[in-house]
Amino acid sequence: MLSVPSVAIKLLKVVNMEYEVVIGLETHAELATITKLFCGCSTKFGAEPNTHVCPICLGMPGVLPVMSKKAFEYALKAAVALNCEINRFTNFDRKSYYYPDLPKNYQISQNYYNLGVDGYMNMSVNGSIKKVRIHNVHLEEEAGKLIHPEETGADYSLVDFNRAGVPLLEIVSYPDMRTVDEVESYMQTLRKILLYTEISDCKMQEGSLRFEASISLRKKGSEKLGNRVEIKNLNSMKSVIKAIEYEAIRQSELLDRGETIDRETRLWDEVGEKSQRMRSKEESQDYRYFPEPDLLPVMIDEKWLSEIKNSIPELPLDRKQRFVKTFNLSDYDAGVLIEEKVLADFFDECVKILDRPKAFCNWITNDLLREVKDRKLDINSLLIKPKQLASLVEIIEKGTISSTIAKEVFSEMVQTGNEPQKIIEGKGLAQISDEGLIESVIDKVIAGNPSVIEDYKKGKKNALAFLVGQVMKETKGKANPKMVNEMLIKKVGV
Ligand code: ZN
Ligand code: MN
Repeated sequence: MLSVPSVAIKLLKVVNMEYEVVIGLETHAELATITKLFCGCSTKFGAEPNTHVCPICLGMPGVLPVMSKKAFEYALKAAVALNCEINRFTNFDRKSYYYPDLPKNYQISQNYYNLGVDGYMNMSVNGSIKKVRIHNVHLEEEAGKLIHPEETGADYSLVDFNRAGVPLLEIVSYPDMRTVDEVESYMQTLRKILLYTEISDCKMQEGSLRFEASISLRKKGSEKLGNRVEIKNLNSMKSVIKAIEYEAIRQSELLDRGETIDRETRLWDEVGEKSQRMRSKEESQDYRYFPEPDLLPVMIDEKWLSEIKNSIPELPLDRKQRFVKTFNLSDYDAGVLIEEKVLADFFDECVKILDRPKAFCNWITNDLLREVKDRKLDINSLLIKPKQLASLVEIIEKGTISSTIAKEVFSEMVQTGNEPQKIIEGKGLAQISDEGLIESVIDKVIAGNPSVIEDYKKGKKNALAFLVGQVMKETKGKANPKMVNEMLIKKVGV
């Protein structure tokens, strides 16, 4: 097996010198409908096995599927968001193959009339915009799930059909990517588009977003594509990257030895970090596609299409550019904000209430994200509201609380969802600007530190900072620091 450093070195050689790595991705995303594609069963994840099933999704003979309009609209939305040409006439086809998780022995998919074709997606890679073309977007049904018992020596497997028939979107890119950075950005950008449009929840750990990669190598400068290898069983974005690196090196070593690359499908072994041959293209199946006779074709008219177009929100990359242009945020900060739609929405709500984009950006990208991480909060169900953060920013500007206290108040707001004013009053956190009160504390500190006063009078300037610190400590950080400073200088003279 290759060790990590040698992989990195070899990949540099592969990418930089002789060969160009050509990568395409196939993405499957489960759509966020509450019912399945052709029946009324629930799509909810994590239910007891085989409880979300009916004769239709179990593939009983004689049953008739009925298409979910919602699922079709989600798929259409994705095709539009990915700038595809929309086929106004679409039809479903049967893709025949036998597998224990596919009770009908065929999958209903789209083959002859894909919903969307010839689209593209813009993405940001190391600061510049790169366009990846989308070959097609189509709608199909999900298969069930095979469960292999963990105990060794078990001579059976189980099948859970809860997932069978869940609507699945397939997005096929052209082989337009050349580096793992581009692949990473493709996956992240596509994920964000699907989340922003609310087409899929994109939970990779639950399998609702999955990627398969195809990789080939060619000599730099050559037009002709090399034989490509497809890699399946990639469970995370990290695995996709690792598998591509592994495969690029494996292929380059074969080519170096003058061997040819077999067209084949390989499975990624997550534990061993290597890919293994699953089947060669010569053995590949003939799916015997033919039009699904039990479903009607779907015609998309102008009105429906324009409704779908209008339902697409501002997409992440556009939003990022708007944040940079309109609010003068750095590219980095805007990138952090758009990473999660809820954060971008939160920010937009805040600036609608109060025109302090930079302050809001800092609170959200630093303090809020830190609280979320430290307290393991669900970013989609935050208790703090934009209006409350806007109040906090106003309170700070008025000088009611110091910036140190503000952090404490903010943390409390995130945990409880309480109004900042209420927290400040309840805990007595308001800044002390009462001259008499501050003076009495200063007198106490001066009386208690005669040697420090001596030092200060002798010209040791940093003695003053110590005295200010003592006053702040006495007042639990609530004294107005500006007043403390001015009054102390007046008192001790010089
Ligand atoms: Zn069903
Ligand atoms: Mn598929």
